[in-house]
Amino acid sequence: MLQSPNPRSHRYGIERRQFLRYLGAVSAIPTLALRGEGQVNDPPRFQSSPFSLGVASGDPEPDGIVIWTRLAPKPLEPGGGMDPRPLTVRWEVATTDKFTHVVRKGTAQALPQLGHSIHVEVQGLLPHRWYFYRFHVGNATSPIGRTRTAPELDGMPDQFRFAFTSCQHYETGYFDGYKHMHEENLDLIVHLGDYIYEGASQDGQPRQHIGTEIKSLAEYRIRYSQYRLDPMLQDAHRQFPWLVTWDDHEFDNNYANLVSEEDGISPEAFLQRRMNAYQAYYEFMPLRRRSFPQGPHMTLYRGCRYGRLANFQVLDTRQYRTDQPNGDHQKPMIAKALDPRGTILGERQEHWLMSRLLQSQSQWNILAQQVMMAPLNRGLPEYERFSMDQWPGYETSRKRLLKFLHERSVPNPVVLTGDIHVNWVNDLQLDFRDEASPVVGTELVGTALTSGGNGGNAIAEYERAAKQNPFVRWYNSNRGYVSCEVTPNSWTSHFRITPFVDQPGSPIQTKASFIIENGKPGAHQIA
Ligand code: FE
Ligand code: CA
Repeated sequence: MLQSPNPRSHRYGIERRQFLRYLGAVSAIPTLALRGEGQVNDPPRFQSSPFSLGVASGDPEPDGIVIWTRLAPKPLEPGGGMDPRPLTVRWEVATTDKFTHVVRKGTAQALPQLGHSIHVEVQGLLPHRWYFYRFHVGNATSPIGRTRTAPELDGMPDQFRFAFTSCQHYETGYFDGYKHMHEENLDLIVHLGDYIYEGASQDGQPRQHIGTEIKSLAEYRIRYSQYRLDPMLQDAHRQFPWLVTWDDHEFDNNYANLVSEEDGISPEAFLQRRMNAYQAYYEFMPLRRRSFPQGPHMTLYRGCRYGRLANFQVLDTRQYRTDQPNGDHQKPMIAKALDPRGTILGERQEHWLMSRLLQSQSQWNILAQQVMMAPLNRGLPEYERFSMDQWPGYETSRKRLLKFLHERSVPNPVVLTGDIHVNWVNDLQLDFRDEASPVVGTELVGTALTSGGNGGNAIAEYERAAKQNPFVRWYNSNRGYVSCEVTPNSWTSHFRITPFVDQPGSPIQTKASFIIENGKPGAHQIA
């Protein structure tokens, strides 16, 4: 089934034949998998575990969750060390890790077209509790995963705890942040993108990517495998359900829709690469069938509710945006940045977001997304410079959304942001040019888990920006993650930092804690 083509592709005159062929091949996969076609029943014997990439779960709902694995006895080889044929995998979900009481079980097809990945949408579970799951194929059994369903839709839980992070460049550091998340009593991990980086291996870093800049499907698969073989990352997937979205590096730095960062790449070649990138992302993430890639398109924006307490809107600010105005660097907010035709979400996603927010019955309304929304002037008062890759490069979109939040009195909007490897805590004002303008929401920018290396240094440009932009409450350049405790009355964020990432074993520290009170947008430092 072909989705309506992106109007931009027409403008670029893109040759669609190869994508139609691809669509024909992949769109049949979910149906084939459901029907169990191509099933081969002689049980395989594996010399080494096909579960080297571990297990994962995600997209929680009150009655179900996605459980994931991928068969790859040799994950760093093309094909993962698997014969290119379908295999039947058994799965089971139980209430304890002893599996004495199995509550759901079934089989799924691991198909070579999807790199032998498995995404089972388990249903019929009870809300707001822990479950354990595992997979069997031939003589092999997977590690035991642990996961947690969301609370009932009309329930008001006393508390919801989650951590969010982003930007985990493998080469620049070790993933100890994840190890420390295990010590927290979390319901969920939220990842805001830059899960992998696409670049070639570089010398002189704590760790090294395999290979050159990734472009083919095989290369993207190997890059994800390299990351997922990291024991701390793999364990974080095994221990908690995840809610994920991507940013740019899952595909190509600072891309906008069909426009590459580099000049001179034909839209055809770029779209082919995007298809590879999106497919590999789907294959490796615990996503539902609704996110199944359709050639170079993939619907990743979606909702996830934690009862009437918290409502996530997971956004995709990369796939549908118009090209960065005036280039993607720091520029004054003039000309194209103010173009009413500019959009960061695309019309369809923006309508979806607004109608979801209008219908929301939840106390806290979260936008889990990529790029900074607060218009941070990183220049000087007399020569303003804003990042054209962030929301201020799409000022019409930004203003429209803030006006909407204000006029429709959306309860407690909290924007979660990744991308820039620095923590910021920002008041989101209706009009940032007017200091007295109402605060309509709060933005919490997570730092990088590892990208950029150890961090922690004072950066003159950020110091100045923090001082001259009155909506900034705090900034910090250490690596780490943000741990959030959400209750009906308040939202507390602990900014956890790992003082070093260039070697394993960093301790965790809490650099600051902020509270947002119900009905009073804007965060206040409490520690
Ligand atoms: Fe990043
Ligand atoms: Ca980024």
